[in-house]
Amino acid sequence: MSNIYDSIIIGGGPAGLSAGIYTSRARLKTVLLEKLMPGGQALLTDVIENYPGFEKEISGPELAGRMASQAKKLGLDILTDEVTHIKHVHEGGHKFVLKTSSGKTLESFSIIAASGAHWNKLSVPGEEKLTGKGISYCATCDGPLAKGKDVIVVGGGDKAVEEAIFLTKLVNKVTLVHRRDRLRALKGLQERLFTNPKVEVAWDSVITGILGKKLVEGVKIQNKKTKKTSEIKCGAIFIFIGISPNSDILKGIVNVDEKGFIIADEDMATSMPGIFAAGDVVKKSLYQISTAVGEGATAAFSAQKYVEELKGLTYK
Ligand code: NAP
Repeated sequence: MSNIYDSIIIGGGPAGLSAGIYTSRARLKTVLLEKLMPGGQALLTDVIENYPGFEKEISGPELAGRMASQAKKLGLDILTDEVTHIKHVHEGGHKFVLKTSSGKTLESFSIIAASGAHWNKLSVPGEEKLTGKGISYCATCDGPLAKGKDVIVVGGGDKAVEEAIFLTKLVNKVTLVHRRDRLRALKGLQERLFTNPKVEVAWDSVITGILGKKLVEGVKIQNKKTKKTSEIKCGAIFIFIGISPNSDILKGIVNVDEKGFIIADEDMATSMPGIFAAGDVVKKSLYQISTAVGEGATAAFSAQKYVEELKGLTYK
């Protein structure tokens, strides 16, 4: 019995770390599994200016690092490993058995799914071949490699606009390619984009192919209204066209929407008793670090109530 965790947190981004802070303080026996470094997508963000408490801005890696240190200081056990399989077991009590890529088998009364999301791909010719050779999904990581070049940014959401603005500090020119005639990004970000002399916007346009033998040399672009196609030379292309959830291991166990986002209620409870979810893996209206940490806290509190009830303690 003592080898069974009270809660296993899958994913070490802001949602998972926040959940870990709460389960640790509640003295739940918890382990957080993260396949890479704790921090999630925050690690790939240059500057965060909308997380409360940091009036001078804070970089994504610094904020993520502080969250991870705080969680560890409060006693959270963080393991570098990937959950590959989850089984719900009724025999001998209601619990979950998790297998990991390193060959471990872990048991837990509850799971907090905070496995986040990954960036979508364009799925056009050239993308697979040239990924890492001038095609990037992270301006903070790869922007310095494009120093002084002309680059393309694809997308019209917060991420594309934020990263386009960041890239102007490094590159010669940014062409933002967007498939419609208006951006989806926050108005404040749009204002900063439109007043930046290094930015040009190709409206109503889609990338139909990425060109280059060994490295990116340009893109094929089509205007959706005029149907005119053209080529733009560039030294790098940064793609920010939304996110898809990392929910594959939970499909068939919890209810998900048509895109795979986990459906959770206001207590962050999923359709499977004992599994809670938080952060970008959840279907919701606002994908932010601030919402992820709140959901992580709620998921941890719900997991605590659930485990205590399961163990026969009275919860008041
Ligand atoms: P997003 O808000 O979903 O925007 C995706 C953008 O990509 C949209 O403009 C969309 O065009 C375009 N797009 C989608 N599929 C496309 C395709 N196949 N080809 C070309 N363009 C395509 O996603 P995001 O900007 O990546 O951000 C992800 C989430 O994180 C969002 O919820 C965002 O709010 C959040 N986020 C917030 C911040 C912040 O607050 N500072 C920063 C980063 C991210 P349409 O507009 O035509 O649909």
